[in-house]
Amino acid sequence: MKRTTGQDRTITTKWRAATRAVRGGTWRSEQGETSEAIYMTSGYCYDDAETVADRFAGKIPGMTYSRTQNPSVQMLEERIALMEGAEACRCMASGMAAMSSVMLAALSAGDHMVIAKAAFGPTRWVTDNLLPRFGIACTAVDGADLNQWRDAIQPNTKLFFFETPANPTMDIVDIRAVCDIAHERGIRVVVDNAFATSALQKPLELGADVVAYAATKLMDGSGRTLAGAVAGDANFINTVLHPYIRNTGNTLSPFNAWVVLKGLETLDLRAQAQSAAALDVGAWLETRVPRVLHPGLPSHPQHALVQAQMKAAGSIFSFEVDGGREAAMALLNALELIDISNNIGDAKSLMTHPASTTHSSISPETRAAMGVTEGMVRISVGLEDVQDLKDDLDQALRSVGL
Ligand SMILES: *Cc1c(COP(=O)(O)O)cnc(C)c1O
Repeated sequence: MKRTTGQDRTITTKWRAATRAVRGGTWRSEQGETSEAIYMTSGYCYDDAETVADRFAGKIPGMTYSRTQNPSVQMLEERIALMEGAEACRCMASGMAAMSSVMLAALSAGDHMVIAKAAFGPTRWVTDNLLPRFGIACTAVDGADLNQWRDAIQPNTKLFFFETPANPTMDIVDIRAVCDIAHERGIRVVVDNAFATSALQKPLELGADVVAYAATKLMDGSGRTLAGAVAGDANFINTVLHPYIRNTGNTLSPFNAWVVLKGLETLDLRAQAQSAAALDVGAWLETRVPRVLHPGLPSHPQHALVQAQMKAAGSIFSFEVDGGREAAMALLNALELIDISNNIGDAKSLMTHPASTTHSSISPETRAAMGVTEGMVRISVGLEDVQDLKDDLDQALRSVGL
């Protein structure tokens, strides 16, 4: 097949972001299919025994086993690398496989890391419960406070990790400023960019070393599959992360890789449309509830920083209702259109109560320190008509007396 340009960086790096998202990494078979093929295979066959020996020895390129490489997964990896402006990328079975793999591959017993405390619940479980069992210490800081990042550094600090915007408090971390603090001390910076995606925020351009994803969310975009991705410099991805993935096996299925490939084709359009809708709903909610935490609204304490480092504020935000957990749950139960779901980044609008769902695995004290209140509700705005979303929220708020 002549035009297999999606894998040829001399051509693909000339493409702009939208083109990379549609065509980057595409690898056509001799059939010339337009849509990426799903290589649903665990193994590979060889013309002769010497070829397989050379592939195992790394002397010639080529697949050996789908725990190590698969064409459909490699298409996705190359596409994400191009979209991020990264040298390399590896995809994994879920977002948490990506987050935990980065930490376990990069850190050893005796090392220390610093995390912004407002992070995805399971990520905090890994840093607070799993890593200490292997002699890796973690300090949680207020990600918005640069002095806390500076003060948390120890002689053995190897990694800074943060989400921005953070789930579900919508705290923003100044990516460039935190990277500068880290790099003065030779510390690697990992950004979980799930809420923004490359369509809205490019952490590597702002100085981060590694960007990590739950591709489950906006990158799939239709709530179909779990997937994770980590992109960064070739040395870290190929020599630190790759051996960890291939030997522990949290590999992404070729089918799931294909689902995400298809999702990426429309990521930019969806991210723009859903961001605009979320801003509209958020501004309206400010007239109805005591507190809205939306990075795109002027009421957000870090609004200026949001405008400086993000193209748009994204489709997810939180708000608080009076009456604590009881009122928050009653509100969810009164919804007629928006689904009660702890997922995000779907074309369908979804709402959840973080304290009892996504953040229930962390202690009430840590939760309170993170600012996850009992009356907090998180919404992921989808692609429905915005007026229908406002109407549904309005009738639900009214029916529970809010
Ligand atoms: C969902 C999510 C994860 C974990 O992704 P999974 O695919 O569910 O494992 C990690 N970080 C953030 C910010 C998320 O939203």
